[in-house]
Amino acid sequence: MACPICQKPADPKYRPFCSSRCADIDLARWLRGDYVIPGSAVEEEESSDREGEQSEG
Ligand SMILES: [Zn+2]
Repeated sequence: MACPICQKPADPKYRPFCSSRCADIDLARWLRGDYVIPGSAVEEEESSDREGEQSEG
């Protein structure tokens, strides 16, 4: 398996990364929200938020 950060051979010690540095980089990306999960679009649920009708008068 190659390191997802730099594509180098991963080190069993830091799998799936090649070093602790790449692991940190990956973690940082996660924290920053750079990663986007494909095929997992947010499904909008229909919610009935219109309970009562507003009437002026
Ligand atoms: Zn790496």
